[in-house]
Amino acid sequence: MMLHRLAQILCLRRADFAYASSCIQHNSRMEGGMRTPSFSISGFMPNPCRQLARYLVAIMLILALTVRPAMAQQILRDAETEAFLHEISEPLIEAAGLSPANVQVLLINDPSINAFVAGGQIVWIHSGLITSADNVNQVQGVIAHELGHIEGGHIIRFSEGMKTATGITLLSMLLGVAAMAAGGGEAGMGIMAAGQQAAMGKFLAFTRTQESSADLAGARYLSKAGISGKGSLEFFKKLQNQEYRYAIPQDDSYGRTHPLSGERIAVLREVYEPDPAWSTKTPPALEAKFKRIKAKLSGFVADPTQTMRDYPASDQSIPAHYARAYAWHKSAYPQKALDESDALLKAEPHDPYFLELKGQVLLESGRPADAIPPLREAVRLTGSQPLISTLLGHALIATEDEKNFAEAEQVLRAAVGKDRENPFAWYQLGVVYERRGDHARAALASAERYSMQRQHELALRSAQAAMQGIDKDSPDYLRAQDIAMASRAMIEQSGKKKK
Ligand SMILES: [Zn+2]
Repeated sequence: MMLHRLAQILCLRRADFAYASSCIQHNSRMEGGMRTPSFSISGFMPNPCRQLARYLVAIMLILALTVRPAMAQQILRDAETEAFLHEISEPLIEAAGLSPANVQVLLINDPSINAFVAGGQIVWIHSGLITSADNVNQVQGVIAHELGHIEGGHIIRFSEGMKTATGITLLSMLLGVAAMAAGGGEAGMGIMAAGQQAAMGKFLAFTRTQESSADLAGARYLSKAGISGKGSLEFFKKLQNQEYRYAIPQDDSYGRTHPLSGERIAVLREVYEPDPAWSTKTPPALEAKFKRIKAKLSGFVADPTQTMRDYPASDQSIPAHYARAYAWHKSAYPQKALDESDALLKAEPHDPYFLELKGQVLLESGRPADAIPPLREAVRLTGSQPLISTLLGHALIATEDEKNFAEAEQVLRAAVGKDRENPFAWYQLGVVYERRGDHARAALASAERYSMQRQHELALRSAQAAMQGIDKDSPDYLRAQDIAMASRAMIEQSGKKKK
């Protein structure tokens, strides 16, 4: 009990002071059994095929469990949220001298207020950070700081610790990506073994210097992008209040590695206030998008009764309809969810994400044919967004109508062309190839999926099966050959490790 309490306090401190390290604390807390992995699968993103998803997630879990006793975190994938996060970080990424095409901002389903970087050009944001932020500017302040860690190469410099930890982290990230897609375009399951966090802790314990330098770098990016630092200060103050609330002493030894919030606020205030961007306001349209994302996310992650309290039926605003739609859908009240999505579409008939929501609810309540028109429209309006395309592909297949299979193949091919790391799309593509009698390409789709899920033996077998039936001069044959080679190498490597 005592230990739990301590872990909790430490965790809060870390969350307060250092986004990067805090994730480690959470995970060690989870390892202590404070939390159980959340495997519930319900509709943030469409999950048309729960059975399959559960099955695949089960496979993922077995894999993760063989690594070591694991906890799991969900990676949340959603077309609208990803587009929003991309939009608000793009100017900051550019200001940091990085390429927006290479930097990803991804969302993890975790109620704690946190964000971190853990290698690669990925900024991870906890859902709790979005749902507790008051405005776009606060989120941008956090992203700017995290980009400071990436641009500063803070992780890479720990080259010693990195070797062990990267391998494990990459594995978990891949598992996460695989499982996420297994969850259907819905809520993805990201799996991070708790054990790896101990290894990561060794190098992710950012020094005080690095935290300060990330703060200042973040301030530079905000300034260069013409974005106010107000939100960043507000957010630090929010964390500080939390700190007072939990009575964490300001002079705790943790301060040896991380500057205290009070200090950071003081330093940053001096930098931010004279900046020309200090009084710049977020464009209202962007702020409105944030309110939608926050509502959608709340509807998805929060307990439905909580959502109904935060967004009562008397609230007829767009965000409130949005939040309730997800809460109803999650509670398996399809008609009420449809009513909310119709209210949204009445206000914005051509909003692709409202159309997507309607299609998702229809598909998941057993009406795939009715789901097709809104989904087709959503795909068209988003220029074939891959997650939405995958949902359309699934709806087309779910009609069991052969006339729809050619279109299903076409949209799914386009989806994996844009976002290869989507095993659920590969699975759907495999199904449609199979239905159309193209067994070799069905095997190739399976090979892609297995290789992404790091099931190398299965990937190898599927790739070999694909090579038997595909014309030797075609790109698909070369792809199958690549997967076979890579899988064989991975199998040999893991064999060596065991010895
Ligand atoms: Zn940091």
